[in-house]
Amino acid sequence: MITVPQLDQYKDLIGEDQLSQIYDKVRALSGLHVMHFNTTERGGGVAEILQSLLPLLEDLGIKHTWKVVPLDDTSNHFTAHLVDMLQGNIPGQLEAEDQQAFLDTLAQTPILSRPQDSQADLYFVHDFQLAPLTTLFPWLRPAIWFCHIDTANPNQYAKEYILRFLNNYNVCAFNSQASVFKELPREHVQVITLGIDPFKNKNKYITREQGMQAIARCGVDPTRPLITQVSRFGRWKNPWQVVDIYRLVKQHIPNVQVALVGAMEAADDIEANDVLADLRKYAKGDPDIHLLHDPTMIRDQEVNAFQRYSSVILQRSSREGFGLTATEAMWKEQPVIGTSSTGLRSQIIHEQTGYIVDDTQTSADYTLKLLQDRDLWRKLGQQAHEHVRKNFLFPMIVLGYLDALTKAMA
Ligand code: UDP
Repeated sequence: MITVPQLDQYKDLIGEDQLSQIYDKVRALSGLHVMHFNTTERGGGVAEILQSLLPLLEDLGIKHTWKVVPLDDTSNHFTAHLVDMLQGNIPGQLEAEDQQAFLDTLAQTPILSRPQDSQADLYFVHDFQLAPLTTLFPWLRPAIWFCHIDTANPNQYAKEYILRFLNNYNVCAFNSQASVFKELPREHVQVITLGIDPFKNKNKYITREQGMQAIARCGVDPTRPLITQVSRFGRWKNPWQVVDIYRLVKQHIPNVQVALVGAMEAADDIEANDVLADLRKYAKGDPDIHLLHDPTMIRDQEVNAFQRYSSVILQRSSREGFGLTATEAMWKEQPVIGTSSTGLRSQIIHEQTGYIVDDTQTSADYTLKLLQDRDLWRKLGQQAHEHVRKNFLFPMIVLGYLDALTKAMA
């Protein structure tokens, strides 16, 4: 039986040029073994990408292993503080003893205690918090570090903390040019544009009927207008503004509802409980505000249904490295009302594939416009789909990823 590489499925979507570029690059790397490290198996963008990327590349002849470095509560708090400083430019410092405690914990990572158990040709470390790994375990070489958050405007102190570890990487990757640390030598930097896997259950076409059923299973009335944001319950995702926008729209469309969809799955997501508790208070018992967080209920089919069959999609992140949720929704022919955060600005074209707007009242005006003018909504949605097809499907990541591997092995 002749087996066709998974990548060939993309032929009709992206054309042969990009595919042959990928096959050329892969040939030079055939037989390589790459080992990935991140902090969670499920939940959030990094896990989402690894779940599709690794099988696709295995299929092309590059061996991959994925190891999760679980962090304890104290380390997760340190990480949360660091992300606030790096993304949000929150003032402050990192206490020396907290830094040391975090490094001590990382140094005891059980899966790294025996080098012979983690042999590979190349190591790929995801996320800012794991940057110290190659300093603590010098045998993890050559190595690539991939920063997935929005570091376009970081607190200088936090940036210097991270930079201290980056000399031990052959390549530092970022998901947008704006997030690249200017201090890094250009030849060591790689921008990897992200994208989605259109063939996975979350992104595959489902019929309206299937979508309606999935939305109804989550306790939301699929026959009434619905505003949705799909995102982890995180501060930087700004779910409060979603509620504010819904309230302004409700003054004009009384039967509108809002869903905040964020299955609480990621083990390292320590702020989700606090954000959810705060949102419950903020919702003041309004039955039309749906806070959906149960991971046994919100699976790929449900995320797909909300992204595809909600009336309007919002992504109100005040900081966003890339924002796969916006890409996923645009693929499903939804214009996205996003913010000017780094990742959303790189995906949404204002008035063509959605809207880029930060203030609440104008966002509500655009939401209302899309709810009332369904021809406009449809037109922008089709343009959004095309934009994703041309720029943000999985082969795009694969190309950047292979460039990073090639650079690191040079
Ligand atoms: N996601 C999910 N279920 C949810 C909420 C989010 O599967 O209830 C997925 C979402 O579809 C996307 C990823 O988690 O693929 C989030 O990636 P993004 O880049 O938007 O944000 P991050 O969480 O990495 O900051």
